[in-house]
Amino acid sequence: MNLHNVEFIKSAANVDAVPRDGLPQIVFSGKSNVGKSSVINKLLNRKQFARVSATPGKTAHINYFLIDKQVYFVDLPGYGYAKVSKSERARWAVLMESFFRNPAYITRGVMIVDSRHKPTNDDITMADWFKATGCPLTIVANKIDKLKKSEIAPNMARIRETLELPDDVTIVEFSAEKGTNKETLIAEIKCG
Ligand code: GDP
Repeated sequence: MNLHNVEFIKSAANVDAVPRDGLPQIVFSGKSNVGKSSVINKLLNRKQFARVSATPGKTAHINYFLIDKQVYFVDLPGYGYAKVSKSERARWAVLMESFFRNPAYITRGVMIVDSRHKPTNDDITMADWFKATGCPLTIVANKIDKLKKSEIAPNMARIRETLELPDDVTIVEFSAEKGTNKETLIAEIKCG
C-alpha cells in the first residue's frame, strides 16, 4: 500500500454521509491539539494535508481520506477544547454516539494521546467507545520528544492504567515532529 497516494474524499457532518463501500476504515481520534493532524500528515508524508482538509468552522465533521484506493483514514473531530460552545460540544457527542453505534465498518482504532499527561476523562470515554467496537486498537503516545528518557516508562504505564488497556493493545511511543517510530505505527495499522 502506497501511503503517499492519498485523496481527500469528504467531510461528513452526520453518519448518513459516511462511505460504506466495504473498504477497511482506520479511525483516528484524539483531543484537540494532541497532534492528530500532525500524526496523520506524518504517516502520509504530507505537510498540511489533514489540516487543510478540515475546513475552518467544520469542527464537528468526520474527514475521510482514501489511501491508495484501498483503505480509508477516518479523522474524527478533536475533543476537549475548552473554548468550544456548549451546543458545539453537544453536537460532537451526538455525532460520536451515532458513529460508534454502528461500528461494523471500523477496521482499527488509532487513539492519539499526549505522552506527557495523564489521559483525560474525555480520553477515557473515547477509549471505552473504541474498546466497545471489538476492533483492534492502537494507542499513539505522541510528543514523546518532549519527555526525558526516565519519564517514558512511567508515563506509558500511566496511560495503560488510566485507559484500562487490555494487554493486546499496543502503545506506540511517537513523535509526529521527529518521525519517531513512524515505521512501527505503519506496520501496526497495516496488520488488519
Ligand atoms: P490536532 O489539533 O490534534 O490536529 O493537533 P496539531 O497536529 O495541529 O498539533 C498541535 C500542536 O502540537 C502543533 O503546534 C504541532 O506542531 C505540535 N505537535 C504535534 N505533534 C508533535 C510532536 O510529536 N512533538 C512536538 N514537540 N510537537 C508536536
